[in-house]
Amino acid sequence: MHTLFHEFGHALDGLFSEKTYGYSFIAWDFVELPSQIMEHWVTEPEMLKSYALHYETGEAMPDELIEKIRESSLFNNGFAKVEYLAACYLDMAYHTIGPDEEVDVAEFEKEAMDEIGLISEIVPRYRSTYFLHATGGYDSGYYSYDWAAVLDHDAYDAFKENGIFDNETAQSFRNNILEKNGTMDAMEMYVNFRGREPERTALLRNLGFME
Ligand SMILES: [Zn+2]
Repeated sequence: MHTLFHEFGHALDGLFSEKTYGYSFIAWDFVELPSQIMEHWVTEPEMLKSYALHYETGEAMPDELIEKIRESSLFNNGFAKVEYLAACYLDMAYHTIGPDEEVDVAEFEKEAMDEIGLISEIVPRYRSTYFLHATGGYDSGYYSYDWAAVLDHDAYDAFKENGIFDNETAQSFRNNILEKNGTMDAMEMYVNFRGREPERTALLRNLGFME
């Protein structure tokens, strides 16, 4: 369901886009906002009750089970987040060295991780020798998943504040984000929708890192 909602968000972005030509520059760390925000609806109790029905009885998902889903979504988040962020820093570190600079990969990785104070119990999500993102299109942009997460959690809060099916909020998201689709500065698009710049508190709260 997450994948379906996610990809449908990309589809909506394309369908509602009002740009003239097929291709335009969208900030790399912004492209996953329209898709990732959709994932928030998947496990909303109100939403689950509409589609997660028992295959024989047609009964809606019971509240205890919905609560279990919510609780399990908090499992191991601290570990996963640090592991991921370590890889983001490693990616950035590699992209700060010059083209002719020779490095010892193992040593370079250790130094970069020591610099951010990574504890020995955790290693970067991808070690240098199989970190394909760092050279395969996400070069110095591996962090973009998480920046998009800051955006989608903060943007979804607007729906939480006004109602997850609030028409006006949805219309504003369509007008300011989906229709603009890379034809103007991403931060401007965001501020036009949210009324302010993004804050990371929604992400931290949803991961269970703060109340
Ligand atoms: Zn995507």
